[in-house]
Parts: sequence; C-alpha cells; structure tokens
Amino acid sequence: MGFSEYLFVIAFFGVPGVLGGWLAHTRGKNPLVWGLLSAPFPFFVLIIWFQKPTAEIPGYFRKCPSCGGVYPWKLNACKYCGVETEQK
Ligand SMILES: [Zn+2]
Repeated sequence: MGFSEYLFVIAFFGVPGVLGGWLAHTRGKNPLVWGLLSAPFPFFVLIIWFQKPTAEIPGYFRKCPSCGGVYPWKLNACKYCGVETEQK
C-alpha cells in the first residue's frame, strides 16, 4: 500500500473515529468504545450527536438545578425553564 492510500485509510476511518470519540467524551460516555464504533460505522457519530448527557459535564453541558434539564455549558440560563446559570 502506498503512502497516499495509507493516508486515505487513516482519514476514512480516523475522522469519524476521532469525531465519535470526542462527542462521546463531551456527553460523559466512553470515548474509546464510541470511537471504535464510529470508525467503521460513521452513523454512530450521528447517534452520539443526538445523545444527551445524563449528568453535568464540566465545560460542555450543565444540569439545571431547578428543572433537571441538560443544556449547553455556554448558555447563561437554562433553555428549558430560564433559571440563570450559577457561576462557579
Ligand atoms: Zn431548568
């Protein structure tokens, strides 16, 4: 196998693998398992994309103390009930 084919294989399996693993990490799931699933089957990237974490993931998702909803870390208030984010 030549160098360019080798690069193609890395891109073909590596990109969805890394993406799936990273998304799993931001959602509190096992990045290794999801990375290995996503590499040969890129639709797992879509599945993990739509997964909501069940707990707070510092830097990525907050859990609302009022309604228990999980919303993106960068928002200043809960997107479900509007309670303001407590600044830690
Ligand atoms: Zn809320």
